[in-house]
Amino acid sequence: MPATSLHWFRDDLRLADNPALTAAVAAGPTLCLYVLDGGGSRRPLGGASLWWLSKSLAALESALAKKGGRLVVMRGDPATIITRLVTQCSIDLVTWNRRYDGEAVALDRRLKTELTAAGTTVESFNAALLNEPWQVTTKTGDPMKVFTAYWRAARQRGEPAAPLPPPKRIEPLKLPAEVEALSITDLALEPTKPDWAGGLREAWFPGEAAAGECLGDFLSGPLDGYGEQRDRPDREGTSRLSPYLRFGEISPRQIWHATRTASESGEATGSAADAEKFLSEIGWREFSYHLLFHNPALAAENYNRRFDAFPWRKDSAALKAWQRGLTGYPIVDAGMRQLWTTGWMHNRVRMIVASFLIKHLLIDWRQGEEWFWDTLVDADPANNPASWQWVAGSGADASPYYRIFNPVTQGVKFDPKGVYVRRWVPEIAGLDDAVIHEPWKAQDAVLRDAGIELGETYPRPIVELDFGRRRALEALQVIRSA
Ligand SMILES: Cc1cc2nc3c(=O)[nH]c(=O)nc-3n(C[C@H](O)[C@H](O)[C@H](O)COP(=O)(O)OP(=O)(O)OC[C@H]3O[C@@H](n4cnc5c(N)ncnc54)[C@H](O)[C@@H]3O)c2cc1C
Repeated sequence: MPATSLHWFRDDLRLADNPALTAAVAAGPTLCLYVLDGGGSRRPLGGASLWWLSKSLAALESALAKKGGRLVVMRGDPATIITRLVTQCSIDLVTWNRRYDGEAVALDRRLKTELTAAGTTVESFNAALLNEPWQVTTKTGDPMKVFTAYWRAARQRGEPAAPLPPPKRIEPLKLPAEVEALSITDLALEPTKPDWAGGLREAWFPGEAAAGECLGDFLSGPLDGYGEQRDRPDREGTSRLSPYLRFGEISPRQIWHATRTASESGEATGSAADAEKFLSEIGWREFSYHLLFHNPALAAENYNRRFDAFPWRKDSAALKAWQRGLTGYPIVDAGMRQLWTTGWMHNRVRMIVASFLIKHLLIDWRQGEEWFWDTLVDADPANNPASWQWVAGSGADASPYYRIFNPVTQGVKFDPKGVYVRRWVPEIAGLDDAVIHEPWKAQDAVLRDAGIELGETYPRPIVELDFGRRRALEALQVIRSA
């Protein structure tokens, strides 16, 4: 008799290179389960991520159906639901791919112990990372604190395993009548009143198939020159794979091997250095997970506890202006509007807007992290807090706090013709390149001709740059002397 199995889908919404699904399917008829929980005492997913999840589940449901399988969707406490299903459906084997935030790790451990004690086999796998967070250590076995050392040690572990193919066929487990499943629509993941997701629908096609296309397009296009172009928000210079990675619609092993193969065979357009640079960004993602695993409170607490004494300001008006893209600094406003409309922001601009909030406005990085958590389609439990702490200077291997991005010079350098700013801040599109990043310097006649009235059609800067910079450096003295 074949065993009966249950695969619990979480951040692995794909069929290919999914070792836990492969193991479940190999055992026998499989119940493919997704459970929407409220996040426990962890944060629930933000609005943009819920939209993505809805579309991604729909893609998974149809991919499973093509293989003969069926996605069973439920809502509630996963441990209770799985324990009940194991009894109701006489499940022999439960499988999942590991997650790395503190509460998820604790839940998985508890559930594994309970199920095993009750006679059910549980198998867990790594499907989200090239290396498990505990596999890369210093020579003395401690967690890593510096990216270059981390990445060097990770690379020395050798090539990641080749990705697994998708299961050829999935035999669905017949559910007894008392099992009540929901439909994806029942989960009400998408916004309705109001429906603010129009920009997301235009920008994205979630799902495993789209993830593969996105990678293919990147390897045959923007990979060429990635090392330089990745800093230019006015160009299509990066992969935009982040939400697919976040929800596991593609794995880092797949990305790794596809990039290597394409680069070595000459199919990819980029140089070997471009491929290495791209893979090292995947390395930053690995490093963030390493940090999260070893510091479960990464989103709540300063990694460097000296920052606990930092004199943050409470300024709800400034925070709101930042969130809405109305700071009066075009590159900041462009980024915040790109985020609001599409659920994504270019990496260089993420750094600029984060630096502006933390340093020029002196607002706690956690408030920015929360806003990103709610508005990003790639809102990631590791990358988001690690990156915010990196910009704040409180993180591991962080940018020093005294390095303060000037939003005007950053704009001029990385969006020299104002293409990005004009796209997202159309009310100042009529300005010349010379003043597009600092409209307050334009002469009155120029502003009039461009149809701009500062303070009316577009805000004046909410903080003066030199003043903000000096204030930030003075604040730093507080923790220096603490
Ligand atoms: C303040 C701030 C917040 C951020 N929040 C998130 C977040 O919630 N989710 C998220 O995935 N990334 C986050 N990042 C990192 C980075 O901005 C995005 O991963 C990147 O912009 C995604 O675009 P891409 O897929 O085109 O990247 P590419 O340049 O094509 O890179 C490929 C992949 O590498 C990873 N990566 C790239 N840069 C970084 C980085 N600096 N740190 C960690 N991983 C990286 C991502 O998984 C990305 O998809 C944040 C950065 C900053 C400065």
